Parts: sequence; C-alpha cells; structure tokens
Amino acid sequence: MGSYNLIKLQKKVKKELDADRFLHTLGVMYTSAALAMRYGEDIEKAQVAGLLHDCAKCIPNDKKIRMCKERQIEISKVELKSPFLLHSKLGAYLAKEKYGVEDPDILSAIMWHTTGRPNMTRLEKIVFTADYIEPQRCKAENLPKVRRLAFHDLNLTVCRILEDTLHYLDSGQAEIDPMSRSAYRYYHNLFYETEDKGHSITS
Ligand code: FE
Ligand code: FE
Repeated sequence: MGSYNLIKLQKKVKKELDADRFLHTLGVMYTSAALAMRYGEDIEKAQVAGLLHDCAKCIPNDKKIRMCKERQIEISKVELKSPFLLHSKLGAYLAKEKYGVEDPDILSAIMWHTTGRPNMTRLEKIVFTADYIEPQRCKAENLPKVRRLAFHDLNLTVCRILEDTLHYLDSGQAEIDPMSRSAYRYYHNLFYETEDKGHSITS
C-alpha cells in the first residue's frame, strides 16, 4: 500500500514494450526489490524504478532522437552514434511526463541505469545492478559470481559490472559512453587505490 499503483504502471508499460523486454522489466523490478530489502532502500521506489527503467527502450531510434530534441534533452556525439543509449535519459523524462513519477530518486535511477556514473545513489546502484543480474540475463560470463556478490557488497558489484561492460564493449565496435569510464574509474579507485579503504563501504 504505497503511493504508486504498480498494477496500473505495469499495464501501461507493458503496452510500450515487446514481450522479451517486458519480461526483462519484471525481472529488474523484482531484483531491484530484493536488493532494496538487502540494503535498506525503499522497496516501492526500487520497484517503480525497475518497472520504468526501460520504458523508452522500444521506441525506434529516429523517434528517440526526435523526442529528445522536442524536450530539449541534450544529445552527445556518442549518443547520436548509438541512439539506444538515449533510452535512459528519455526514459527518465517519460517516467515523469507519462507515468506521473515525480520522485527525483527514481528518475535519476532510470537516468543512469545504462552508463552508471561516479558516486551513484543507493537506488541508482540497485537498479544498475538489477539490470545486469536479473533472471532473464544469460550472456555475461561471470553472472553467477556477480549475482552472489550483489547481495554482499553493492559498490564492489557496481565496480565489477562496469569493468565487465567496458571489457565487453572494448572488444566490439560498440560506442562507449565516457560516463561509463568515469564511473568505472570512480568505483575502481574506491577499492584499489588505497589498500584498506573500500571494503567497509557496503552501500
Ligand atoms: Fe536499459
Ligand atoms: Fe534494462
């Protein structure tokens, strides 16, 4: 009995997504909720953020660009080359505009779920992590390890995911958003720059 109508939101977002993306979305919603339980985050916020994180994902790329321009959302060079990256920013706008979500915590979790960023909020880290480990995911090699780690140390998990993502992107021809690199540098330094600094921080 929170302040969001999850049933209504779910029905609405289902119409915007293909079947695979909707199943992924439910996975992210439940996984975000589980991580929220583990780390003392607001469970409902985690569910709403998980449910809406990819709400702009199935919009065709040219329409994504057009919609961003209409809303004066800045498009970087990397985003213009790989417009799928825009689904996070645009998704955050649509979460507000179309789904009536005002909570800045939820909106920023949607905004940063693809690239991450330095010094993420707890909810941002939860959705970022849930997006990578939710049950439908199967591609990443070390998923079993990352899944286990996610319930032990959230910062270290974010660091591992960023590292794996950069490695993966480096090996292909996909564009890497500079924000992912900044995020990785930040989380890597948290653990490896000073010997005894990182492991006491768990969320
Ligand atoms: Fe996404
Ligand atoms: Fe996703």
